[in-house]
Amino acid sequence: MQNWLEIEKRHDSGVYNKHELVIVRGKGARVWDIEGREYIDCVGGYGVANVGHSNPEVVKAIQEQAETLMILPQTLPSAKRAEFYQTLTRLTPEGLVRVFPTNSGTESVEGALKFARAATGRKKFISTMRAFHGRTFGSVSLTWEKKYRQPFEPVVGPVEFVPYNDVEALRAAVDEETAAVVIEPVQGEGGVRPATPEFLQAAREVTREKGALLILDEIQTGFGRTGKLFALEHYGVVPDILTLAKGIGGGMPMGAIVMTDAVADGMPKGGHGTTFGGNPLAMAAGVAAMRYIEENRLWERAAELGGWFMEELRRIDSPKVREVRGKGLMVGMELKEKSAPYITRLEKEHAVLTLAAGPTVIRFLPPLVIEKADLERVVEAVREVLA
Ligand SMILES: *Cc1c(COP(=O)(O)O)cnc(C)c1O
Repeated sequence: MQNWLEIEKRHDSGVYNKHELVIVRGKGARVWDIEGREYIDCVGGYGVANVGHSNPEVVKAIQEQAETLMILPQTLPSAKRAEFYQTLTRLTPEGLVRVFPTNSGTESVEGALKFARAATGRKKFISTMRAFHGRTFGSVSLTWEKKYRQPFEPVVGPVEFVPYNDVEALRAAVDEETAAVVIEPVQGEGGVRPATPEFLQAAREVTREKGALLILDEIQTGFGRTGKLFALEHYGVVPDILTLAKGIGGGMPMGAIVMTDAVADGMPKGGHGTTFGGNPLAMAAGVAAMRYIEENRLWERAAELGGWFMEELRRIDSPKVREVRGKGLMVGMELKEKSAPYITRLEKEHAVLTLAAGPTVIRFLPPLVIEKADLERVVEAVREVLA
């Protein structure tokens, strides 16, 4: 048998720290390695696999569309693209009715920044400390972590970072030069930190007052993850631009920028574009995934299981735990020490896959279809590695 782990490591770019295993298959909230060992997957493709791995409805839609038509640029209208737009804008808040389809999260943010500059004629962006918005030049400019940003400077500017949840600092930062304020309703990569209602509401108010736009980045929080279809529903705040990706396509690499008429109309014809974005194959996957989430009300499942899961994690009586926080099935356990050794032990000793969120947090982003019995096993595993 080929040593796929060695081959991958030899030829890989080397930017990732890798687990010492080779995964070959997934179903629901479980994945299997090449030796047949079964894992409970709380990585969930970094929060992509909301409908479960290889969801049968999504697989069927992809199979049918692959046999029909895979690629069609946006100059040529497509029935699948129209259906995707209709499905998506029925789910987004009132007023968010225009869609630019993308192929990833960072592309959604990148495009949103261009739409914001075009619509406002302004240049400055406000981001938050510990924010994560992606890796390409525009989105990485709004990303807080220095090692993601500093080696690649000059990045896009001007960008001002304000402390997350600091209403006064935010109000002071937004002025007549500001094109947009960009916020994750729950910071993911930055440590699983929910926004306060006051912060998001102030962001909405001050952007309106100053003629700037509000961009909510729901790439990780969207599609049921936090216990609502979109996290903004927890806050009653509607942005001018919503950036989406991750869970939107049930595993298909894709994303979307959803915006108001006013924002979309501010972009000149030909001012933005994409070859792959809006292709019928991705559109079919997106329609199937959104329909599955809606029909099975997966956000309710996330709210119920997530609330229970966080309570159980909080009941683990360990001096190593600083805090358990999150919303729905977007959960972080912050330790008083580095989380990496515990993530490794969860995998090796208990066949539970988790991920980090900064140096000290164990993050859980399981498929929203996960069974309660699996989450019970995860709680037990965490209890044992912390003992
Ligand atoms: C993952 C993520 C991104 C970047 O998405 P990619 O598909 O990895 O480019 C941007 N913003 C947030 C909030 C994310 O969680």
